Amino acid sequence: MKSPWTIAAALLLLLSAGTGCEPERRAAKAASCAGGAWTAPGDDTMTYAIEKTDEEWKRELTPEQYAVTRLKGTEPPWSGALLHNKEDGTYRCVACGEVLFSSKDKFDSGSGWPSFTRTAGTAGVREIADRSLGMRRTEVVCDRCGAHLGHVFDDGPAPTGLRYCINSTALSFEKAPEATERRRANE
Ligand SMILES: [Zn+2]
Repeated sequence: MKSPWTIAAALLLLLSAGTGCEPERRAAKAASCAGGAWTAPGDDTMTYAIEKTDEEWKRELTPEQYAVTRLKGTEPPWSGALLHNKEDGTYRCVACGEVLFSSKDKFDSGSGWPSFTRTAGTAGVREIADRSLGMRRTEVVCDRCGAHLGHVFDDGPAPTGLRYCINSTALSFEKAPEATERRRANE
């Protein structure tokens, strides 16, 4: 009998087949954000400050979070809870809480996945060459725990020209306290 984990992972990977991270207006051959790199090169030689067993991650994460962050799955486009989030705040790694992205750098790429023009700082995000699915892409993982986040492409807006295409499932959002207080004061 299949466990819910296996089913969730299979579902996410099935759904990711044929989906891309390319904005709808772009050509179909554009770089894809789809996951599926079950054996990304270099993964087993990478070390992270936080390392846990699969069993531990399964206990701490939802099946969807596990499938994306540990199995390199891709959520279906337009499905992410944080896709249309426009609040001021910080995007953290859903697995370990590391600060990854700021709302200041989020933009609407039209791809169906949350997109950022840069990371929140020098630490936080690690970039790895990814040749899965017959494509050359750069995978983005959490620098602290190795959680798969998405991919980065060089077709983003100025000033960086970068587009970090990130699974909403891999992120948790922390509202900026000042923004919350300001809103309360205005109510
Ligand atoms: Zn992490």
